[in-house]
Amino acid sequence: MHSIKELFKIGNGPSSSHTIGPLEASKEFLRRYPSLDEVKVVLYGSLALTGRGHLTDYIIEKTLLPIPCHIEFDINTKMGHPNTMVFYGYKNGELIGSLKVYSIGGGAIQIAGEKEKVSEKIYKLNTFKAISEYCKKEKISLAEYVDSVEGKEINSYIELIYDTMLKSIEKGLKHAGVLPGKLQVKRKAAYIYQQNSKDEGLELLRKKVIAYAYAVSEENASGGKIVTAPTCGASGVLPACLKYAIELNCYAKEELINGLKVAGLIGNIVKTNGSISGAEAGCQAEVGTACAMAAAFLCYLDGGSIDMIERASEIALEHHLGLTCDPIDGYVQIPCIERNAVAALRAIDAAKLASYLNSNESKISFDLVVATMLKTGHDLRTNYRETSAGGLAKTFYE
Ligand code: SF4
Repeated sequence: MHSIKELFKIGNGPSSSHTIGPLEASKEFLRRYPSLDEVKVVLYGSLALTGRGHLTDYIIEKTLLPIPCHIEFDINTKMGHPNTMVFYGYKNGELIGSLKVYSIGGGAIQIAGEKEKVSEKIYKLNTFKAISEYCKKEKISLAEYVDSVEGKEINSYIELIYDTMLKSIEKGLKHAGVLPGKLQVKRKAAYIYQQNSKDEGLELLRKKVIAYAYAVSEENASGGKIVTAPTCGASGVLPACLKYAIELNCYAKEELINGLKVAGLIGNIVKTNGSISGAEAGCQAEVGTACAMAAAFLCYLDGGSIDMIERASEIALEHHLGLTCDPIDGYVQIPCIERNAVAALRAIDAAKLASYLNSNESKISFDLVVATMLKTGHDLRTNYRETSAGGLAKTFYE
């Protein structure tokens, strides 16, 4: 597995595959062809079907500036990957170069016909089972395992992630008005946060968790800065649970940072053995994974054993199996924003449920759920995988 730095990325929403990936692709094209007069970009598959709602065209045009750019959305031609884009560069009216790029999820890109440019796989162990056995043998926690692989510098990186997550909540709670796009969806984070002032105790805390998840997801939907956890669309779940844990007021910052490492490890296992791409495996891969990461984070903080952490993340992911990706008009707004809030609450419940069960008696491992999620995702018709051609995206207009 790669470093968890590859999973937790800081970038602008609303979609890691539809904005961060195309942004990286545009930069790569400019690196290869720095002196162009004009660029044409053709988007295919999910990028063509939902690119407008995901602000793909906006981010490509912005990155290529000041070069004028013409973007075409080809919804008919089938390409090898569901998120394909082809760049054509012109100088004095002549085509001088082209580049086919796949946005492969989580903001990563792959150039067609070239060896995947990836960083070193620093984790030698790839499954929860292998990592769990190793940690038990060495008598170390999952966070200590991350430290042993990533080195001490991971602490400052995760601290940056921690700060960025909290900032995205802060900003989201300040902003009001309507989100970009034709749906005219009102921002609700601040409204939720302020209403029912009589709420107290756990009820108040749960309301805040919902408001925090909305805050980040609304920032994401409006192109604001967020952390992919594991993706932009699912970026509200873990920060909401982080702020919830902070407000419980019983954890030192160092413990919270360690909890985020455990969350990152869980996301990394799903990314390696399953998928974190809505276009590949539906929303179970995005929000389902985010929920598993947040459940593991909370269980770790609660002093859960490695088996309990496995249970918590397994419960969280298992009950998202089959969840489709059907954003209306391709905007990462409906059902995405509300779904982040529901998943944050579910992560809290999953961590609690794991603490009530006897972890040794479970018949379902986390690795098994990850494999099931990938198979289920591949069984989903493409209408339900970030194409906005089925589900809510379709019935909304019927
Ligand atoms: S439905 Fe889920 S996977 Fe699809 S865009 Fe929304 S958050 Fe992402």
